[in-house]
Amino acid sequence: MRLKGRVAVVTGGSRGIGRAIALALAEEGAAVAINYQRNEASAKEVVQEIERMGGRSGDIFQADVSDPAQVLRMRGAILQRFERVDILVNNAGINRDKSFINMDYETWKAVVSVDLDGAFHCTKAFVVAMKARGYGRIINISSVVGQTGNFGQANYAAAKAALLGLTKTLAKEFAPKGVTVNAVAPGFIETEMVTGTPDEVKEKVLAQIPMHRFGKPEDVAKAVVFLASDETSYITGHVLNVNGGLYV
Ligand code: NDP
Repeated sequence: MRLKGRVAVVTGGSRGIGRAIALALAEEGAAVAINYQRNEASAKEVVQEIERMGGRSGDIFQADVSDPAQVLRMRGAILQRFERVDILVNNAGINRDKSFINMDYETWKAVVSVDLDGAFHCTKAFVVAMKARGYGRIINISSVVGQTGNFGQANYAAAKAALLGLTKTLAKEFAPKGVTVNAVAPGFIETEMVTGTPDEVKEKVLAQIPMHRFGKPEDVAKAVVFLASDETSYITGHVLNVNGGLYV
């Protein structure tokens, strides 16, 4: 129960890595606001899982994180339900892969507006109150692809690399105010984002991972819980790799 009494927001908490993060934060005692965009049934199912743990609370909050007005509406609803937010996990993300030659501006913008702008809007929404209270934990879910680049992922890699720049800058800006800002950079994790990849591509990726396996959402969730805990009050601006050795 390292997070007992804390309130966390997980964007994109309805599926995949976000779902595992929401469950892991709840397991440690945090009340969890689960943001989703479309998949209400999956978000509700995460809340049911949290309630099954006993003595924990969670609730669902619909918003497209790329839309600042929707994020502000979500903030109002979350504050009404939980009164404050201590932990923000900017996890919502999409990919729309195309080689750069075939990538039109719409495809570029679609990814950047969710993966990067979404973190901007959500951080804007919650950081002011964190700063005023002198406590906060912001964790941005980047990607190994933001560190290495990847064929066909110019939009995604650019957004995920920019998240690291955002993380380091905000770490410096908020360090005197008790708000830490860190990033987790997962490698290839078994979620719908990866299971849709063609088998031959998966084989090529696996061959490059020193641990010879894809990660599990729970591997990422454990890193997030660590960065969300009080134990990490002197860690800020860090990028925690969870990638089986793929990039070191
Ligand atoms: P999934 O596709 O499994 O889940 C994506 C989640 O994001 C869903 O909860 C979805 O909600 C939500 N979402 C998507 N768009 C929006 C939006 N505009 N507003 C609010 N919520 C949105 O993805 P993963 O779990 O695989 O990825 C989670 C994060 O981890 C992403 O940022 C991704 O880039 C990153 N990552 C993933 C890796 C992997 O290998 N899987 C590797 C490295 C990083 P809904 O259910 O309503 O659609």
